[in-house]
Amino acid sequence: MQRRHFLQTGSALGALGLVSGCATLGGQGPKVVVIGGGYAGATAAKYIRMWSNQGIQVSLVEPSANFISCPISNLVIGGSKKIEDVTTPYDNLVKCHGVQLVRDRVVSVDSDKRLVKLAGGAELAYDRLIVSPGVDFMWETLPGMNRPGAQDQVLHAWKAGAQTVALRQQLEAMPDGGVFAMSIPLAPYRCPPGPYERACQVADYFSKAKPKSKVLILDANDDVTSKGPLFKKAWAERYKGMVEYRGKHNVTDVDVAGKTLKFEFNDDVKANVLNVIPSMRAGDIAVKSGLATANKRWCEVDFLTFESKVAKNVHVLGDSIQIAPGMPKSGHMANQHGKTCAAAVVALLTDQPVNTLPIYNNTCYSFVSAEEVVHVASVHRYDAAQKTMLTVPGSGGVSAAANALEGHYALAWARNIWADTLA
Ligand SMILES: Cc1cc2nc3c(=O)[nH]c(=O)nc-3n(C[C@H](O)[C@H](O)[C@H](O)COP(=O)(O)OP(=O)(O)OC[C@H]3O[C@@H](n4cnc5c(N)ncnc54)[C@H](O)[C@@H]3O)c2cc1C
Repeated sequence: MQRRHFLQTGSALGALGLVSGCATLGGQGPKVVVIGGGYAGATAAKYIRMWSNQGIQVSLVEPSANFISCPISNLVIGGSKKIEDVTTPYDNLVKCHGVQLVRDRVVSVDSDKRLVKLAGGAELAYDRLIVSPGVDFMWETLPGMNRPGAQDQVLHAWKAGAQTVALRQQLEAMPDGGVFAMSIPLAPYRCPPGPYERACQVADYFSKAKPKSKVLILDANDDVTSKGPLFKKAWAERYKGMVEYRGKHNVTDVDVAGKTLKFEFNDDVKANVLNVIPSMRAGDIAVKSGLATANKRWCEVDFLTFESKVAKNVHVLGDSIQIAPGMPKSGHMANQHGKTCAAAVVALLTDQPVNTLPIYNNTCYSFVSAEEVVHVASVHRYDAAQKTMLTVPGSGGVSAAANALEGHYALAWARNIWADTLA
């Protein structure tokens, strides 16, 4: 009851604080702290403010100045987009929704005292904490990548930003006739179709600017993990003779100076440009806080609320979680986690019932050239008996063939989800 009262007071303040259509920061009500302003965290922050009528205070801790999207970032590597095209400021979360943006990094979580500590030294108290730090890389599996300077030379570009631009520059500097070799880790990893889309983007660039060059895909998985027939068709027909795919190639080390990949069972591969996408786990802060209960890699959650299975009042979202069957680690899915969790957190903080039947979808577009696109879509529904999200039988599907119309849809999807997450 007390919390309901807080909410009413907060919503009155929110209404009074309306400035040119945007709400100013509400200074009362229960406190939510969100770690990470990516697809999951920024969405949760915005929707908690909206769905509580600004009655819940939300602090979003994020070290980056801007939101830089991984979706569409492969087009920056292909050269048809610039990094500015995938960059959005956080301003509207503050101006329009009254989210308190804290430009810092969380270094520790005390779930008994309900406090997070920031790198800058400050502490933030919370009633509910949302942990959405995305992924971090398992560098310990690639000894050569831990030598000084190695990670500046051999790039992953699997977090959009400086590395995306730097990988594009490495491709521009590569001589025609050179080899670009990309390694893919065993699933699960962030964005199952992402590496194959990247191979198409690099091949698209080579076919226009460096036609004697080659794209070599070295995949730890047995076969292409997403949209396989569609990607293979693009490599066989559109990029004939330029793209080579090798499955069951698990990288165990990188000779950075010799630009050589070493594998569990296969011969070494030397290339002009290496792009190593390492194995991944939940973001460091989630692992360090003891939330990564599945193989010390991913965080198990209750799919009704996204509350951690091991820490009360702590929710985990996005790429950091142990996924349900058929659930990809995608930006679209992270956005859906954000909204489901926002609704649950508002309910829990205002003594309302939590929705017992969450249903959401995923759509993932991949550019096989600068214009033509293929998609995969699915619908996911909570199963009360199994306490997990299951793919709805017969839902979704994949494109019949790559086409330019879906290229327009894909860019509209991106504009829409950026607005939904940040505007
Ligand atoms: C090349 C590529 C292409 C992709 N294409 C698509 C696509 O087309 N469609 C799609 O749906 N998905 C796509 N994805 C996947 C998508 O980017 C991720 O699934 C999504 O970003 C996950 O959202 P998240 O919020 O969990 O993590 P992120 O978006 O990575 O956000 C995590 C945030 O947490 C912050 N953070 C980390 N640690 C801390 C800390 N200690 N304190 C404070 N902040 C912290 C980080 O700075 C970051 O901003 C792609 C990914 C890649 C790499």
